[in-house]
Amino acid sequence: MAKEGHKYIFVLGGVMSGVGKGVVTSSIGLLLQQKGYPVNLVKVDPYLNVDAGTMNPTEHGEVFVLRSGMETDQDMGNYERFLGRDLTNEDYMTSGMVYQSVIARERALGYDGKCVEAIPHVRDEILRRIEDAASYNGSKVSVIEIGGTIGDFQNALFIEAARVLKMKYPDDVLFVMVSYLPTPGTLGEMKTKPTQTAVRDLNSFGVQPDFIVARSKEPVDEKRKEKLSISCNVPHDHIISAPDIKSIYEAPLNFEKDKLGDQLLDALKLPEKRRASLAAWKKFALAATNVKVPEINVAIVGKYFDTGDFVLADAYLSVIEAIKFSAAKLNRRVNITWVNSKNLEGSNAKIVAELGKYQGIIVPGGFGESGIEGKIKAIQFAREKKIPYFGLCYGMQLMVVEYARNVLKLKDANTTEVKKSTADPVVDVMLEQKKHLADNKYGGTMRLGAYPCYLKKGTLARAAYKKELVEERHRHRYEINSKYVKTLEDAGLVFSGTSPDGVLMEIAELSRSVHPFMLGTQFHPEFQARPLTPHPLFTEFLRSAISRKRKK
Ligand code: GLN
Repeated sequence: MAKEGHKYIFVLGGVMSGVGKGVVTSSIGLLLQQKGYPVNLVKVDPYLNVDAGTMNPTEHGEVFVLRSGMETDQDMGNYERFLGRDLTNEDYMTSGMVYQSVIARERALGYDGKCVEAIPHVRDEILRRIEDAASYNGSKVSVIEIGGTIGDFQNALFIEAARVLKMKYPDDVLFVMVSYLPTPGTLGEMKTKPTQTAVRDLNSFGVQPDFIVARSKEPVDEKRKEKLSISCNVPHDHIISAPDIKSIYEAPLNFEKDKLGDQLLDALKLPEKRRASLAAWKKFALAATNVKVPEINVAIVGKYFDTGDFVLADAYLSVIEAIKFSAAKLNRRVNITWVNSKNLEGSNAKIVAELGKYQGIIVPGGFGESGIEGKIKAIQFAREKKIPYFGLCYGMQLMVVEYARNVLKLKDANTTEVKKSTADPVVDVMLEQKKHLADNKYGGTMRLGAYPCYLKKGTLARAAYKKELVEERHRHRYEINSKYVKTLEDAGLVFSGTSPDGVLMEIAELSRSVHPFMLGTQFHPEFQARPLTPHPLFTEFLRSAISRKRKK
């Protein structure tokens, strides 16, 4: 059963994908939250994977890990960043998850001997999940983004579930269609026809959009708004112009100017509880797009094959955003360069030529052996040349491998992920992970989600966080081998963050007296960086990078 008076806004895509449904969903969430309503944002992914964890990030973008440990779509990261709070498992659903529940119930005779079918059983499971999400976190409004585009086979059942919800609660359900208005170069004129066709497509599902967010290169003019309004049966002031912007963080500000939040509340018959206060957000968005501030050059070193910048930006979305938030706080803009670690595997001269020009180097999370030796060389270079270095997960593990090889002189030191028979497995598979790997149980079995981390006094990490106990999100199967901890510490490596029982090494760093910033985390700090609360470790890393530039 739906919660009494709960409101639902479905965000659907028309014409084509990739035009910013996620940003519209996040912006609506932020605006309604600012106007006094608790909001939850739900991502529906029509694919059959049970979660996003088994997908290659260069195919599908980053795997965003929730606090609970659920491995989700990168849009969930944007939702959390816009809302400024954690989302829960109920806020995410895939077709795989939905079917898994239905089939498990069928196997347990949960359908009383009936023939189990897409309609009504799968549809009703979707509805159950939507209503379940609505009852969490005291939410009053759910904004639900249905992945894909209208007309796809895969998302049809989700649209059907939304239609049924609207039929049951006509005053409590709205549909927002995010569409695209192309301006063909030869015509030089913005065309509304594809949007009209998409609306007709949606109508064939029995759904009428209440709002159209018209994405386009330039703002949509009055003439086209009128045309869309008449032909699509949508009130004129419900056609929202959404031209291209420099930064996604400007979107809620533009939507507020266009009164999208007020229009949505009116349509839902909800009074505005307070004026949206977007001052802090605006300040951040201005800082994030300010091109007049000095630049910091940061290299992200990873294994990237034929992937273009566009794909990489998606695969490491949270890392890039985390860098941006800290840069905005420090009044800087960051120029990120992707460095293919395979190109670093040759001579040292090559490394100097490639890496000498950066103020900071990051090795982000990763899996497997390709490009590993290049990453280790980059880390060695950063350590020896005292270039600020920040290692995220794999980047921390390889920082320890490098230290063992070049400082402890354990020449064969390695992670067993790369070389099982290594003489010195300074990074080794976690005990509980061995069985999962032996049984080929890969889905959702890593050490996932938030765990507490205790920070040692007098360390860089403790000074950055200004706290003794923090909680950070993880996604890994390997860890620093406890047998080597003492030897590494005796050689100067500081394990400044550990699990509260002291067993797992969560942060490794070098003392500030020997290096300005050389720090790696077993967790992924990027998942908790938010526009208005940048992550202290990213901020410290950039601060060191800035002072390196000044010294030069
Ligand atoms: N491959 C490493 C592990 O499984 C690191 C994972 C990561 O960087 N997320 O432990």
